[in-house]
Amino acid sequence: MPRRTAAERFAEKINKSGPWSLIKGVPGQCWIWTGVLNEHGYGRFRDDTGRRIMTHRWAWEQANGPVPDGLVCDHLCRVRACANPDHIEPVTSRVNTLRGETIAAANAAKTACVNGHEYTAETTIVRPNGSRQCRTCHRANSRARNAERYANDPEYRERERARARESMRRSRERKRAAAREQQLAPVTPITPHTTDTDLERAA
Ligand SMILES: [Zn+2]
Ligand SMILES: [Zn+2]
Repeated sequence: MPRRTAAERFAEKINKSGPWSLIKGVPGQCWIWTGVLNEHGYGRFRDDTGRRIMTHRWAWEQANGPVPDGLVCDHLCRVRACANPDHIEPVTSRVNTLRGETIAAANAAKTACVNGHEYTAETTIVRPNGSRQCRTCHRANSRARNAERYANDPEYRERERARARESMRRSRERKRAAAREQQLAPVTPITPHTTDTDLERAA
């Protein structure tokens, strides 16, 4: 008996009469995989080359060609056992994670850092991967790191001291220059040339 193709095995184990998705823009019914599911609840089988593949990914590839490099197949319907290609969209794994009900999504929904500082445009550092850090905590952390370094690294301590001396010297110089300026050009108080009585007389 000839080996059955992946398409035949797929057809046998897929139930195309799954639930209608209630999510806007997700057309038709879910195609529920009735075969083996992996530990995350995604359908799993082998393609024609014998390679293990998730069923929904295989189904999408049959309809659209290879999934672009680096992308993962996201379920728009949020039904993991579904393999309806119309319910699947290749996205970056970050988008996939954000769409799912995961820790990252919970983090993105948070309005404050672990220490209770509110996330606002001014107080938030957004990293290239999209994760956020609180500027207040970041500053406190770097202050603590610097203090530790100051205590333990003699070279760093010497550099910091030299920097502090230099900035004090500049500040003293500025004050001295300002004082000299005062002496050279004493400001005479301005007295009004016109008095109220003059104005009354003119009227
Ligand atoms: Zn679906
Ligand atoms: Zn914070």
